[in-house]
Amino acid sequence: TELTGLVLDNLREVPDFPEPGVLFRDITPLLANGEAFSTFITGLAEHYRGHIDAVAGLESRGFILAAPLAYTLGIGMLTVRKGGKLPGPVLGVDYDLEYGSARMELRPETVQEGQRVLVIDDVLATGGTAAASIDLLERSGAQVVAVCMLLELAGLGGREQLPGRQVDSVVVYP
Ligand code: IMP
Repeated sequence: TELTGLVLDNLREVPDFPEPGVLFRDITPLLANGEAFSTFITGLAEHYRGHIDAVAGLESRGFILAAPLAYTLGIGMLTVRKGGKLPGPVLGVDYDLEYGSARMELRPETVQEGQRVLVIDDVLATGGTAAASIDLLERSGAQVVAVCMLLELAGLGGREQLPGRQVDSVVVYP
């Protein structure tokens, strides 16, 4: 699709970051390209309009995508944050990462019961971050209707961590 081309044309691949052996996919060129970023967010908004009641961004790069998408649609944005950032009360989940371990937290009071939520982030790798975030959102009363990822690194098996979920990846790497 048009969105796939926008991401592929504005992507940077960085070998050995943040550690040796990891090929880091960097979306900062897309963000820095005003026309591409605007067209991209508008395209996502048209795709999801009417199907979702809120957008949940996963810290940090998910925030950059969730905020303009939610704003464009006139709906709320939920922030799923790394451990220790949010004032309480919070729900939290600890999980394993591709490199290390991590924790995500959510303020359940920001979620409305039955709200249809889209989860968005830049990269789906092992799926741990998305799975933990969905768990937090659903324990808070949300109905997670789809997961949108700019890039899916299919070889890391993230999709298998999200059984039965609609996972919309704009670009999929084998
Ligand atoms: P996962 O939990 O293993 O799926 O990792 C996903 C998290 O790690 C996301 O929040 C991503 O932003 C980040 N991540 C993993 N690999 C990359 C990458 O190549 N580029 C940018 N972010 C990455």
